[in-house]
Amino acid sequence: METQPAPERPVQERIRKRERRIAYFSMEIGVEPKMPTYSGGLGVLAGDTIKSAADLKVPMVAVTLIYKQGYFRQQIDGDGVQHELPYEWNPRKFMKLRRQTVLVHIEGRAVRVRAWEYRVRGATGYTIPIFFLDTDIDGNSDYDRSLVQRLYGGDDKYRLAQEAVLGIGGVRLLHELGYRRILRYHMNEGHSSLLTLELLRQRDIIEPDSHKIDGVRRMCVFTTHTPVPAGHDQFSYELVREVLGEFLPMDTIRAFAGEDRLNMTRLALNLSHYVNGVAKEHQRVSREMFPGYQIDSITNGIHAWTWTSDPFRDLFTRFIPGCKNEPTSLRYAISLPADEIWKAHAEAKRKLIQHVAMTSGTVLDGETLTIGFARRATAYKRADLVFTDIARLKHIAGEAGGVQFVFAGKAHPMDDDGKNLIRKIIEISRALEGEIGVVYLEDYDMQLARLLVAGVDVWLNTPRHPQEASGTSGMKAAVNGVPSLSVLDGWWIEGCIEGMTGWAIGSIAGNQRAGMEHAALERGPGAGCATDEDCAEALYDKLERVVVPTFYNDRARWIEMMRHCIAINGSFFNTHRMVNQYVMSAYIQ
Ligand SMILES: *Cc1c(COP(=O)(O)O)cnc(C)c1O
Repeated sequence: METQPAPERPVQERIRKRERRIAYFSMEIGVEPKMPTYSGGLGVLAGDTIKSAADLKVPMVAVTLIYKQGYFRQQIDGDGVQHELPYEWNPRKFMKLRRQTVLVHIEGRAVRVRAWEYRVRGATGYTIPIFFLDTDIDGNSDYDRSLVQRLYGGDDKYRLAQEAVLGIGGVRLLHELGYRRILRYHMNEGHSSLLTLELLRQRDIIEPDSHKIDGVRRMCVFTTHTPVPAGHDQFSYELVREVLGEFLPMDTIRAFAGEDRLNMTRLALNLSHYVNGVAKEHQRVSREMFPGYQIDSITNGIHAWTWTSDPFRDLFTRFIPGCKNEPTSLRYAISLPADEIWKAHAEAKRKLIQHVAMTSGTVLDGETLTIGFARRATAYKRADLVFTDIARLKHIAGEAGGVQFVFAGKAHPMDDDGKNLIRKIIEISRALEGEIGVVYLEDYDMQLARLLVAGVDVWLNTPRHPQEASGTSGMKAAVNGVPSLSVLDGWWIEGCIEGMTGWAIGSIAGNQRAGMEHAALERGPGAGCATDEDCAEALYDKLERVVVPTFYNDRARWIEMMRHCIAINGSFFNTHRMVNQYVMSAYIQ
């Protein structure tokens, strides 16, 4: 993968601190595969956002935590059991340690916080610093030093303390580093919402009805990513008092963050002038979850160039010059020569098959329809849906040239259902040996994602509606000409043009709800897919009637679809378009 920044690069643009107006806060940021500071979609989105902001010269700085043992390195043993190993890495190889420090009080202890500075350099040379906060400093207690070891590890107290370092420490350190003219604080998900309380405290706002609160609200922007109530971080006020002490009067915190528990989402909602969901359907669901709030939508994107495979980069460079920093121009992919598209795809597929053989020993077939599924292994994403009826799948695979599958994804260490999914798929892969090729690759990360989304023929996604707020991996596939076969949820409700950019699993009910009548014009069988059984049935039906026959019998039509994936979806579902929307709707408003 092309690495974006380069600390050792000789020419560094001088960062003029006074011009930086937007501070982007995220619990995880993934910018490079070898920096394990992310777990999945949220962190990759944050990294892609910053890359596009750098390309577009948006005057931003970003703040997150360092995670010295990363999320974890995944090993899967012969029985399909996931093992989590610490990911040891050396931040020094990627960034510079800054000497400034600030204090944050946690459980009454004064905890010292410093930062590592990493620079993301845009296509035009403009750079955006990311500050990775660090409490692993001599003088801090062992517990406080441990707060930057693991992403999403530990108990509620550990998490709240981490969020205090991020939100409170982050605001203080930016100021200490000289970024004193920040006009907007953008909270990417609720983990950083304690920053709102720090902004109140700095202005001596201790009454919840102070007229000065509007000034803070004007500075805050909140993007929610969670479509289910259980997904929102909440802490008991007992714990809040224990960890934060008398940071602000409890009644003031309660007034903004909820009466019974401190709800990080509610806190951000109450203290932001602009709030958005990450797809139109997610906006609808969020409005239902939080009635009374103005919630807009800005659909997620991907940093198109980062996720474009090398063969397609070569192709685009020849036919669509300039698209590296202008993904809108990918719309011209509509006239790319068919043989060139197929050649580029064959090359991406060859690279994937080579990687699979090297890492797993499984030799996949280059001519066989290859279906990819890789994302966090967690119950609602239903990685096993396609194996609901093995006999049916065998029948479909036996008809034409067959199908084969590549899976990958980590389960959160505490997510037993997710771990069981991995074990189940590995068991099934054994049972199907010799009939249907199924491989589960270890240690899914950005590097592997980049190989997978480009190297498979179809990108499969089977979330339980409406739990996929947006999803972005299908966008990565699209920019490489790979159509999605997906349940209508998240971005796909907007991105699916049936038979053009991919296929819907189930009915178009979801589209109608979001007012997207243009998308997914063909109705699926029956009345859609409300249950797992319905969705599996709809998936088999679409595979058997449409996907498999088109792939093997109508290559011209298939390549026409690949063109549409790039031209229609690649040109739109990117972070350049997305960042422009944030600028217009949230940053300069
Ligand atoms: C893009 C990406 C994701 C997000 O995948 P979804 O299918 O959108 O959930 C997760 N993990 C990695 C490593 C990614 O690159």
